[in-house]
Amino acid sequence: MNDFPQGPRLHPSRRRLLAGGAALGGLALAGCASTSSGPSLGRVVVVGGGYGGATAARYLRLWGGNIDVTLVERNAGFVSCPISNLVVGGHKQMADISRGYDGLRAIGVKVVQGDVTAIDAAAKKVRLAGGGELAYDRLILSPGVDFMLDGVPSLAEGLASGRVVHAWKAGEQTAMLRRQLEAMPDGGVYALHIPRAPYRCPPGPYERACMVASYFKVAKPRAKVLVLDANPEIQSKKALFEKAWKDHYAGLIEYKPNSELRRVEGGTLKLDFEDIKADVLNVVPPMRGGDIARTAGLLNMNARWAGVNWLTLESTVAPGVHILGDTTMSAPAMPKSGHMANQHGKVAAAAIVQLLKGQPVSATPVVMNTCYSFVTARDVVHVASVHQYDAADKTFKAVPGSGGVSAAANQIEGRYALSWADNIWADMLAL
Ligand SMILES: Cc1cc2nc3c(=O)[nH]c(=O)nc-3n(C[C@H](O)[C@H](O)[C@H](O)COP(=O)(O)OP(=O)(O)OC[C@H]3O[C@@H](n4cnc5c(N)ncnc54)[C@H](O)[C@@H]3O)c2cc1C
Repeated sequence: MNDFPQGPRLHPSRRRLLAGGAALGGLALAGCASTSSGPSLGRVVVVGGGYGGATAARYLRLWGGNIDVTLVERNAGFVSCPISNLVVGGHKQMADISRGYDGLRAIGVKVVQGDVTAIDAAAKKVRLAGGGELAYDRLILSPGVDFMLDGVPSLAEGLASGRVVHAWKAGEQTAMLRRQLEAMPDGGVYALHIPRAPYRCPPGPYERACMVASYFKVAKPRAKVLVLDANPEIQSKKALFEKAWKDHYAGLIEYKPNSELRRVEGGTLKLDFEDIKADVLNVVPPMRGGDIARTAGLLNMNARWAGVNWLTLESTVAPGVHILGDTTMSAPAMPKSGHMANQHGKVAAAAIVQLLKGQPVSATPVVMNTCYSFVTARDVVHVASVHQYDAADKTFKAVPGSGGVSAAANQIEGRYALSWADNIWADMLAL
């Protein structure tokens, strides 16, 4: 079908185990059996084949009996942001984080490579670039994030010219950042700018600093990693990252909090009180929900994120449109992560199956999250949490005492992290 590696197929018992990943008041486990028998329950179009959308497409087929599922994704295959920092550090290759959609095709998902350019919620149709239309009974949007470049116009120019890279959407940008690091002279400077929270993957930038430093330590010992953070402090696993930087990268990583980016001029990042010259400029721009949600008027929270009913993930402004993943206005203490988008996908799929059958949705969903971060090529730290729907406040709330962070970086979690990635890719892509 395409050039993307399709990945190893999981043993059926492992697949069953993962099918229960989001505890959905019994529904999740009850509905595992059939894929496509009986009359069609309805048509669901899913926009975005990343962590949220691919999961929803798969679980609609798994739990729905016979739902006509069409997944529209602009890229030919899936490239994962999780583990992409290992590619940036030279410890993994692009092929290791790339997978195809053949598993979804094999279970009856119609995969369309294309760009959805407009949504007509009243007529229940989406329009594709090139002119085609797809009609739906329920629509799922999981378009990830897009960048807010209006505040720093020179940043848009820097990104367009390739002088600045973000590598905050995996793919060509990831490969480009790696190439620039390889081309950088020993003694050069790599600058990583982090936007104010909220942004996708709170620990991601600090993991990236570790991965780049792990590469410099061996290949360019006189080079330097400069972390310019618009936030007042490290946003996730703070003590663990500080310890890793001290233990492994003393003198190599320098951290500057409260560093808001104002302008990019050639090879210089202009902050409020300082100009930073660097050889490799890696700027993670401020972000909001995906452009397709924005143009459809669905980013109704601070004009930045989409409000949803957490029992169904249905938009609070557009009935019949369900929104997942990074584009949502996160519930309290809920991270913007691939693991969480996967959980959103399962809650939404279960709810849509019920809605199409005219039956009540689960009133007690529970979701969970684990984010692993590599601090060396092998040592890893995690943060985990469990979130229970609270009927009184109509939102998910973190269950007290349910999560936590690693006591210390360790190699066993390094193996868990790689297994987590293989398993979640298999779970979402039906590998
Ligand atoms: C460096 C880095 C490291 C990370 N590490 C972790 C980690 O260890 N663990 C973790 O859980 N999370 C991690 N994350 C976060 C994770 O990648 C995101 O939270 C996750 O991808 C969100 O899923 P999503 O479905 O919302 O969006 P995505 O997975 O980004 O999927 C969106 C998809 O929609 C497609 N799309 C968008 N608009 C359209 C359109 N109009 N038409 C057609 N297709 C469209 C895009 O091409 C894309 O494939 C990391 C992120 C980064 C950047």
